Amino acid sequence: MTFKELGIIEPILKALTEKGYTQPTPIQEQAIPVLLKGKDLLGSAQTGTGKTAAFTIPILQHLAEGAPPKNKRRIKVLIITPTRELAIQIDDNVKAYSKYTDIRNTVIFGGVKQHTQVKILQRGVDVLTATPGRLLDLINQGFISLKDVEHFVLDEADQMLDMGFVHDIKKILKKLPQQRQSLFFSATMPKSIISLSKEILGDFERVSI
Ligand code: AMP
Repeated sequence: MTFKELGIIEPILKALTEKGYTQPTPIQEQAIPVLLKGKDLLGSAQTGTGKTAAFTIPILQHLAEGAPPKNKRRIKVLIITPTRELAIQIDDNVKAYSKYTDIRNTVIFGGVKQHTQVKILQRGVDVLTATPGRLLDLINQGFISLKDVEHFVLDEADQMLDMGFVHDIKKILKKLPQQRQSLFFSATMPKSIISLSKEILGDFERVSI
């Protein structure tokens, strides 16, 4: 199987070739067709499996194929992850795969001054990767609106719960439109995670590796 056979469009294929990806990993083969169809997804996969590309590539393809932004860009993709390091890694992936599209991305996390993050957000981005605390801070200050989000990803859900982010996640969920594509990833699937996933996902498909 190749990325081309999975239906990936030329500008993204070009970026993948440049990254040296010759073949999709097993989770990419499973998840990409489901996500290109617009379905919700519950994924059990560890970091290191190619999980990030499995969810970013099809979402970026949806954006690239959609109508170009008319006026100001609005956040259409929101990716939540528990730590700054993971947020930066995901954003780096988004940037690399969308290199030959006009998609704009940024990343926000706590522990640093917000000024630079706010300036980039004010210029307009399509894809935002965030840790929960800083996201809520900037929403509460009116710098971020989630009302145009079309694709929502909750990454490393089990780690998120372990770090005590459950209330933050529930607050974020309340700000999202009902009509959206949702993706939920967790390395482990205890009861608490299954129950959280039910609050987030609609009719979903499951992939696990
Ligand atoms: P992740 O599981 O998302 O943290 O990805 C693990 C590593 O695999 C990252 O360094 C990716 O850049 C790399 N990677 C993801 N997909 C592929 C692929 N299809 N071929 C080669 N490397 C990949």
